[in-house]
Amino acid sequence: MAPGFTLPNVRYLNHTGAKGIFVEEHMDRPTTAEVARFFDKVRVTKHCWLWEASLNGKRYGHFWHRGQNIKAHRFSYALFVRPIKPGKQILHRRECGNPSCVNPHHLYMGTHTDNMRDKKIWGDIVFGERVGVSKLSESDVRIIRKIYRDNKFNHKYIGELFNVDRTTVGRIVRGEYWRRVH
Ligand SMILES: [Zn+2]
Repeated sequence: MAPGFTLPNVRYLNHTGAKGIFVEEHMDRPTTAEVARFFDKVRVTKHCWLWEASLNGKRYGHFWHRGQNIKAHRFSYALFVRPIKPGKQILHRRECGNPSCVNPHHLYMGTHTDNMRDKKIWGDIVFGERVGVSKLSESDVRIIRKIYRDNKFNHKYIGELFNVDRTTVGRIVRGEYWRRVH
């Protein structure tokens, strides 16, 4: 995950259907139940958040949401990172490369050209944060706080998503752990 990653307000983008494009102007925040339903289909592993429900022919996760067939990684990006601009693709970082992954750390917004360019530039540098030093990354901590604040999930449920115990989640959301991360 790139340094300086921030989590803006959760916003959800309308889906126009046929072309698979989210339109930035039409935003409606998903409910807690909808977010929970999304997470119920996700299996969090050490690196990737694997989509365990339907996959399409290209191995991207998708699910029905408000009457529309939504790509799971786009939903995750819009939920955790920022609105998806019209015409933009949500791409998997090279270090991930798993179409069924919905870990927002592994996603970025770009065009097909960006995708080709970044594959050349990045090499192996981006994905170091999680390895070794600590079980959670700073980005994880921000996401945990955001999920807790926005969706009122309990500590146990969030702990299961991130593979940490509920006490740790409590300390994170109260600011006792990771105090310098905002
Ligand atoms: Zn991944």
